[in-house]
Amino acid sequence: MGIYLRPTEIEEAVAALATRPLTILAGGTDFYPARVGKPLSDDILDITALAALRGIGEDDSHYRIGAAVRWRELAALPPWCACLTLAAREIGGMQIQNAGTLAGNICNASPAADGVPGLLALDAAIELASSRGMRLLPLAEFILGNRRTALRRDELVTAILIPKPRRPARSTFLKLGARKYLVISIVMVAALVETDRDGTIAAARIAVGACSAVAQRLATLENDLRGRRLAPSIGAIVAESHLADLTPIDDVRAAAIYRSDAALALVARGLEDLAAP
Ligand SMILES: Cc1cc2nc3c(=O)[nH]c(=O)nc-3n(C[C@H](O)[C@H](O)[C@H](O)COP(=O)(O)OP(=O)(O)OC[C@H]3O[C@@H](n4cnc5c(N)ncnc54)[C@H](O)[C@@H]3O)c2cc1C
Repeated sequence: MGIYLRPTEIEEAVAALATRPLTILAGGTDFYPARVGKPLSDDILDITALAALRGIGEDDSHYRIGAAVRWRELAALPPWCACLTLAAREIGGMQIQNAGTLAGNICNASPAADGVPGLLALDAAIELASSRGMRLLPLAEFILGNRRTALRRDELVTAILIPKPRRPARSTFLKLGARKYLVISIVMVAALVETDRDGTIAAARIAVGACSAVAQRLATLENDLRGRRLAPSIGAIVAESHLADLTPIDDVRAAAIYRSDAALALVARGLEDLAAP
C-alpha cells in the first residue's frame, strides 16, 4: 500500500494532486474490483471527506451534482431528469447505489457506463478543479474513448452541471441486460424531449450506450424529431439509418447484430414512453 490521503478541503486535495500522481478514490466500486488479485500499491486520494463535493445544489439555470453524490441520492432530482434517476435505480444493486458515485461512473469511462447516456441527453457539463483553477467541459469532450477521459493528472472532477430546460421537458431511460439487477448493459437508451405549448417537439436529445466505445447522441434522429407532434406513433419514425454512427461489437454479453436490433427497438420504445399521457 502507498500513501493514503483523505483531505477535508478542496485546496488540500488539489495541492496534493499538484505534487505527485495520485489515484482518486470515491465509492471504490470500480477501483477495488479492478485490483482483485493485484497488490494495492496506488497512492490514494480519498475524496469522500470533501464537504464541497457533497449534495445536489440548484440555481436559476442549473442543477449541480457534487462529485461525491451517490447513485441513491439522485432520486432528489426533478421528474424531467428521469433519464438519470431511472438509470440510478438500476445500477448494480442497493449496495452499489449506496456507495458508488455518478462522477466515478463517468471518470471510469466504460462503454457500458449507465450514467453517460442520461447525462448526454441532459446536455451535462463536467466541472474540474486543479491548483491552476477550474474548467468546465461538455460531457462529450470529457469522455474521449474506452476508459479514456480528458482528466489531467493534477485534476479532479468536482461536480456535474445540468442546465434547466427552457420549455416543458420529459425524459426516460431504458436498459437491456441479461437480468434485472447486477447486470452490465447490453444496450441502454436515454431520451429527452422539450415541447412547445401545442405539443410539438422543440428539441430532442437521444443517446445510446454500449453500442460504441463512448455513448453516442443520434443527431439525425434528433433533427428529424424537431417540429413533430409528440404522439404515441412517434416511435415509427425511428429507422436503421438513424443509428448508422453506432459501432456495436460482438462480446460475451451479446452479438453486434442483436445490439443493433435492440437499440432500434429501445429508441422507438423510449420515444413512445415519452408520448404516453
Ligand atoms: C457489483 C457491481 C455492479 C455494478 N453495476 C453497474 C451498473 O449496473 N451500471 C454501471 O454503469 N456501473 C456498474 N458498476 C460499476 C460502478 O459501480 C460504477 O461505475 C460507479 O458509479 C463507480 O463509482 P465509484 O464512486 O465507486 O467510483 P470509484 O471506483 O471510486 O472510481 C472509479 C474511477 O473514477 C475515478 N474517479 C472517481 N471519482 C473521481 C473524481 N471526482 N475525479 C476524478 N476521478 C474520479 C477513480 O480514480 C477511478 O478511476 C458496478 C460495479 C459493481 C462492483
